Amino acid sequence: MIKFHPSEQQLVLYAAGELSPAMLMMVGTHVDMCKQCQAQVQDIEEQMARKLFGENNFADYQANSLDSKTHDAMLAAIFASTAPVAEPSPPQPHDNLLYLEGKRFTLPATLARNSHRIGDWSRLPGKLWRASVDIGAEQSLNFIYMGEQSTVPEHTHKGNEATLVINGVFSDEQGDYKDGDFVLLDGAHKHSPHTTHEDCLTLAALDAPLHFTTGLSRLLNPFSSLFFK
Ligand SMILES: [Zn+2]
Repeated sequence: MIKFHPSEQQLVLYAAGELSPAMLMMVGTHVDMCKQCQAQVQDIEEQMARKLFGENNFADYQANSLDSKTHDAMLAAIFASTAPVAEPSPPQPHDNLLYLEGKRFTLPATLARNSHRIGDWSRLPGKLWRASVDIGAEQSLNFIYMGEQSTVPEHTHKGNEATLVINGVFSDEQGDYKDGDFVLLDGAHKHSPHTTHEDCLTLAALDAPLHFTTGLSRLLNPFSSLFFK
């Protein structure tokens, strides 16, 4: 059961195609995983269609009993530009699978469509792995894989950090985050994500490097650039 969702405002911006490339990918992947947000996005798209057609025309258009397939197709055409894909890529075998350390993860549709953007895994200190996703923007989007019993040192953010759990569980001072949970933290938050008995694959978007705050981990501040690349 997903506990943490993007805000309504983020879903509106997503439906309108107005999120940054990194956030389009993050919110799109959450929506792939979340029935509740799928329904909400559908509502938002319908409201946008009403605005586009005008209320009366929209009523006519509905009364003309276009079957729901046509309706869907029209909406799809209108909102085709909102799909979080910068360019189409031909489907390839195993596109929706991600491999790391003998493990295999199934990617939600948005990520599977963008799998050609996923770089190689590199190992970070302490059971952490990173693979960047090339979104051709100022922002940084990375898969972060946390092995069992691993910890990302406590840090704050100069900008926003959005994290989406793709598979597994991680915890911080606020609670536990599981498959599909979407967490947005701003510079005011300080946290140290960790795993216990389960590993965790996340997708993380940063709009500025991490800033490690405590003791020895302050020495790791150069390490934050590893996350930010
Ligand atoms: Zn949701």
